[in-house]
Amino acid sequence: MQNIEKNLIDINHQIESAALEFKRDPKDISLLAVSKKKPTEDIRGAYACGQRDFGENYLQEALEKVEELSDLNIVWHFIGAVQSNKTRPLAQNFHWVHCIDRLKTAKRLSEQRPQSMPPLNLCIQVNVDQEASKAGVRLDEVDQLAEKIAELPAIRLRGLMAIPAPQADFDSQRKPFAQLRQALERLNHKGLDCDTLSMGMTHDMDAAIAEGATVVRIGTAIFGERL
Ligand SMILES: *Cc1c(COP(=O)(O)O)cnc(C)c1O
Repeated sequence: MQNIEKNLIDINHQIESAALEFKRDPKDISLLAVSKKKPTEDIRGAYACGQRDFGENYLQEALEKVEELSDLNIVWHFIGAVQSNKTRPLAQNFHWVHCIDRLKTAKRLSEQRPQSMPPLNLCIQVNVDQEASKAGVRLDEVDQLAEKIAELPAIRLRGLMAIPAPQADFDSQRKPFAQLRQALERLNHKGLDCDTLSMGMTHDMDAAIAEGATVVRIGTAIFGERL
């Protein structure tokens, strides 16, 4: 637990110094703590240090944690693959879903979002490396999907998300993030009001910040290695 506190301080410093290095306001970058496979005590520990946004990948695990931690004022993000027949619990329990790559899934989330809740925040996942095995739409498919999702009543389209293939050096890491930033700029140019670039993990956070990340999704550097 002591480690989580120190890790959070360190990662927040790292975000701040990367922001300053690339002439950005640190306040424009929010830290999403990725707690998958970590116990709820770790989440409580991070929460006690002021962390509010948490990300989970696996639906069953995520729902158990939401329930167990319902006494806390957590902003829950779902960052795993969304099965289109399991959208209802996401619509009912989460504030954000980051990995949308089909209109059908977004439509169901919109239909299932309880009217008592604010619109569900969505990001479109982009397969920037065009790897056949990976989730996400191609860069040339982003605009069409975004325009349709933006019309859904109980959804707020916030922006784009990507998980690029790991690269060892900084310049190679920047490239896919730059493509995602350009895609977001195109959407805004077309009049879609998007403010979110969900990109950057423990190993490539600085490169993502250099290219405009507004949400960095960090697991290992906060909670340690996952088994
Ligand atoms: C696990 C995961 C992360 C966090 O990765 P770390 O390398 O542990 O920082 C971020 N985003 C997604 C989508 C993940 O699945």
